Formats: sequence, structure tokens, C-alpha cells
Amino acid sequence: MILVLKHGTTRDKVDALCELLEGKYRIQTNPIFGSEQTVVGLVGDTSRVPERDVAGLDEVDRVVKVQEPYKRANRKFHPEDTVVRVRGVEIGGKRVVMCAGPCSVESRDQIAGIAAAVKDAGASLLRGGAFKPRTSPYAFQGLKAEGLHYLKEARDATGLPVVSEITNPAQMDLFEEYADMIQVGARNMQNFELLKEVGRSRLPVLLKRGFSNSVQELLMSAEYILSEGNPNVVLCERGIRTFETATRNTLDLSAIPVLKARTHLPVFVDPSHAAGVAAYVEPLALAAVAVGADGLEIEVHDCPKKALSDGPQQLLPEQFAALVAKARGIAAAIGREL
Ligand code: PEP
Ligand code: MN
Repeated sequence: MILVLKHGTTRDKVDALCELLEGKYRIQTNPIFGSEQTVVGLVGDTSRVPERDVAGLDEVDRVVKVQEPYKRANRKFHPEDTVVRVRGVEIGGKRVVMCAGPCSVESRDQIAGIAAAVKDAGASLLRGGAFKPRTSPYAFQGLKAEGLHYLKEARDATGLPVVSEITNPAQMDLFEEYADMIQVGARNMQNFELLKEVGRSRLPVLLKRGFSNSVQELLMSAEYILSEGNPNVVLCERGIRTFETATRNTLDLSAIPVLKARTHLPVFVDPSHAAGVAAYVEPLALAAVAVGADGLEIEVHDCPKKALSDGPQQLLPEQFAALVAKARGIAAAIGREL
């Protein structure tokens, strides 16, 4: 349930209203002060709240019922776009943000070299996996804490904030110290204990869609993080499983406009894990910008043939630079910047 307040309701009155509602109905309130209107979202067991009673309150202009199970992530609760800031890099504004780097951090020199190259090519965030959730227990599992150290060194050298994937709540202290944004991977999208843990963090979260999960399930996972108090969530479409085998996954481009309609949270697209093949990454990246993605996450390696994970889908730095140049044209065509 959402209460749309009358124009000119002061902050004091909004605060008093929230206190009254929370005490009387044992629910939580989520006031959003927008430039156009102020709304108060009611969260919890709102069946206790009689619609006619709240509609009659002095400050309330009208009551909107929210059918969707996600509340804080819902655009009805928060009509304006959320802008998530990662050490000064704004995600969800006019600028389309490029996040690039290797699938895995493999050595200090490897991440340092790729970080400098993707920065030159136009990236404003650096990615790199340190804890790798691999399908096979025999595959490279990542450099773990050492990888996070190298990422931070690369950040200190280039100024690019770093994004890395967490796989276990016990890693949280390490991420708080070394990372600027925490990635929750597709395989962990419904690891609810992990979602609650990152929800208690102050770090922004890049939440990837599970390959067998619906848009609504993705939004419910975001809701876990938001409901623990962390408002800085960026969603990421990275391909879903279909009957098609020509690509590693099928990039669900429809999910981007659907998500932009349903939620105020920024939306990224990862064309690398969707395609699984380097040659398809650029066209999918351009399409993603065209349908409204707020940013792209792209895997870049200095020698994909030797990569310890996901070699076939990683771009060379010069291929990434060419992609960025083309994406800039698409962004301009739809009134955005890159
Ligand atoms: C990754 O970004 O390296 C990754 C493992 O992605 P996903 O969780 O989308 O498979
Ligand atoms: Mn990868």
C-alpha cells in the first residue's frame, strides 16, 4: 500500500504520520521525498491497515494498492530512478557506465595491465573474480583474498572502483576492506542468507539474475537486500537458459524495459556470460544500450586463450575499446552519454 501525500506536506508532518502509522498498525513505513510528490510506502502485514481510515487522513491525497510482492524495489514506491554511487561513479543517471575486466584475477601483473587498458578504453569500473563459483570442483577457484588485494592495488593505481563476486557471508569483512561494490552472482541470486548479509553492508551490490529465474524472482532477491537497509542495488541481466544452444545463455533483452518499468533500481547487462562467445559480445552490448541498460559488465583479458576461466567469451582490450566507441554512438542516439 502506498500513500500519495498532498502537495506541500512538510517533513515534520510526514515524520509524524509515519510514527503514527507504525505505532498503530505495527508495520514499517518508507517515505520517499521526490521532486514532484512525496509518497509513503507501507511494508509488512498491511492487511491490518484499513484503506478507508488512511485515505481519510489529512496529509493523504490518495491510496494506491500494490499487488506486487516486491515493495521497496517497486517503482510505485519510488517513482524516480535510483542513482547508485560507487566511489563517485554514478549508476542509473544519464551516463551509461562501463564495467570491464577479466573473469578471474590471475596475477598482480595481469589485473594491473588489464585495469590500465580498460580505463584507457573508457571503463569507469573494474571487475575481476577472486572467489570463483565454478561448475567443476577441479576448475580454477580464484586467488581468493590474494585476488582481492591485487584488485585493490589496481584500483589504487588507476582510480577505477572495483567490483568482485562474494560467494559466502563469511567473506564479508574482506569485501568491506578491499572492494567498492559486491557482486552476487547468478548462482547465488537466491542464496537468501548471502542476500541478507550484503543487505547489512554499506557497499553497493551488483545483483545478477539467476539463469533460471524470472524477473519477479530477481526483484524479490533485490527486496531482501533493500529490506535489510542497503538501498544501493544494481540489477544485472546476464542471460537465461532456454532450448537454444548456439549461445551459452539467451540474453533476455526484454527484461531491461520490463525492469525499468517495474523498478527504480538501475539495470546492467552482461553480454559476455550471455553470449559465451567473444564474437557475439559487441552486437549484444550495443543492443543492450539501445534498450535502456544503465551499464554493461564485460569480460576483458589480455590473452583470452590463456585465461584460467571463461576464455572463449573474453574480449581483447582493443576489441573492448572498439565496442565502447560504437556504444557511444548508440547512447547518443537515445539521448544518453557514455
Ligand atoms: C562472473 O561475472 O564472473 C560470473 C560468474 O557471472 P554469472 O554469475 O552471471 O555467471
Ligand atoms: Mn566469467
